[in-house]
Amino acid sequence: MEESTETIIEQFVDYLLPELTPYESSLYMYLFRNSLLRNGTNEIRIGKWTIIDGFCKGSRGGGTSYAHVSKMLASLEQKGCVKVGDTDRLGTLYVVILPKDIPLVAKKIASNMPAKAEEDYFTNQDKRRELFERDKWICQYCGEKVSQQNATLDHFIPRSKGGDDSKENLRTCCLLCNSIKSGKTYEEATPFLLKSIQERRARSVK
Ligand SMILES: [Zn+2]
Repeated sequence: MEESTETIIEQFVDYLLPELTPYESSLYMYLFRNSLLRNGTNEIRIGKWTIIDGFCKGSRGGGTSYAHVSKMLASLEQKGCVKVGDTDRLGTLYVVILPKDIPLVAKKIASNMPAKAEEDYFTNQDKRRELFERDKWICQYCGEKVSQQNATLDHFIPRSKGGDDSKENLRTCCLLCNSIKSGKTYEEATPFLLKSIQERRARSVK
């Protein structure tokens, strides 16, 4: 992969997630996980029954049918997230498109390019680090410690609502909180953040 996994995940969370339904994003992540993350190629040949087996188990997949998975795959293709190729005995070939190469994401990235590079605290690695240090490597939403591996920066005012890449608008954030907060204002995200934090606390005392 030419880009770091972190960059890809950030672009996914910041730009693609708001465009997908929860099912579509889980399915995209499932294909991504089994192609690029597993062997570095963005192609995966897989049968729909295998997808149903692997991805739809557990509470979220309850009632997921072959028709539903087909519909989600078609929708992902329509949104430019995957290209569907031929089908043979081993399954159908899917090409997983990286977030930055998905047209609706590329458009957003281009329109959010900061005017002045020195004010861009989001893409500049040294400046990102400066912000993590400022926030003492603590997620500003749930208070959990983050590390170089899982620290992200959240746009306090989302980019879709005019927030920029200045240090004032960026907060250190864990992956989970970032995926919840993404695209939402703090007020909109608060109930979901609280719920997630409570669930995590409940799990950790068990
Ligand atoms: Zn957090």
